[in-house]
Order: sequence, then C-alpha cells, then structure tokens
Amino acid sequence: MRTIICPHCDMTSEIPTMRAEQVAQCSRCHQVICKQTYYTSSSMLALSICALLLLEYMISFLYFFFINFVLIKEKK
Ligand SMILES: [Zn+2]
Repeated sequence: MRTIICPHCDMTSEIPTMRAEQVAQCSRCHQVICKQTYYTSSSMLALSICALLLLEYMISFLYFFFINFVLIKEKK
C-alpha cells in the first residue's frame, strides 16, 4: 500500500500494489492518479540505443570544447 495525493482534487488515497497496465482512479473526481506500466524488452532496447546516441553526441561536444580550450590556451 502506498499513499497518493490526487493532483486534481488533493484527496489522499491508499493504493495497493498494482499489476501491469492497471489504472487507479481517484474516488472523488474519478481522474487517473496512478498508472502501472512496464517497459517491454523492445522498448527498453530502443531507449538504450537512444541513450547511447545521446551520450556519443554529448562526448563529441565535450571533445570539441576541450580542443577549442586547448587551442585558445596555446594562442596566449
Ligand atoms: Zn481527485
């Protein structure tokens, strides 16, 4: 059990452990307050590849700025 505060009406609710794809609704305003989702292996693979691409992009920027820093230092 965990306590969740509804962001729509501020009602406090106790929610039991939820299974995959279950949705909890607020008993007062009937808005969705919690949704249990699990990533599939293919979506985890896609997210991992995206993270690696972004990491490579970031490292290339760091390398570029480091080279510029060294060149500026050498000119002085
Ligand atoms: Zn509510």
